[in-house]
Amino acid sequence: MTSCIFCKIVEGTIPGEKVYEDEHVIAFMDIMPVTKGHVLLIPKVHRENLYDLTEQEAANLFKVAPRIANALKEEFQPTGMNLLQNNGSFAGQSVYHFHMHFIPRYDKSDGLKVEFNTKVEQFPMDVVSELGSRIAKRLQD
Ligand code: AMP
Ligand code: ZN
Repeated sequence: MTSCIFCKIVEGTIPGEKVYEDEHVIAFMDIMPVTKGHVLLIPKVHRENLYDLTEQEAANLFKVAPRIANALKEEFQPTGMNLLQNNGSFAGQSVYHFHMHFIPRYDKSDGLKVEFNTKVEQFPMDVVSELGSRIAKRLQD
């Protein structure tokens, strides 16, 4: 028997407030929502995080992402929408079954704070370019 809480939701052994389901994925309400309409989208197959997804599994997930986002947009008329996906405890992952957060945004005090503290001194353009070359090379290998 699985100990994964999201596998249990997939299997139906614990309740989940499902909003969408197909052969490959389910979406359900986050039990501790950050904002009104906070939804999680997961693959039915157990995958710990983004690194473990096959291309097809990733495609199955993202294929329905615009539909979920549009349903939230039409229903709640948020001001914006953040998609968040945490990999590893340091990045804030607490459930180790891949999931994508859909977090409709309403105002500055709606519970989510996303802040980009850019470090242009540390990463001038020549450094950015060198880092980019390394990533591009790895993607070709
Ligand atoms: P993360 O920190 O990215 O791993 O997010 C895990 C999310 O799962 C949190 O937002 C939790 O509120 C949510 N969560 C944990 N258990 C359940 C559950 N049984 N049903 C729905 N959402 C859950
Ligand atoms: Zn699982």
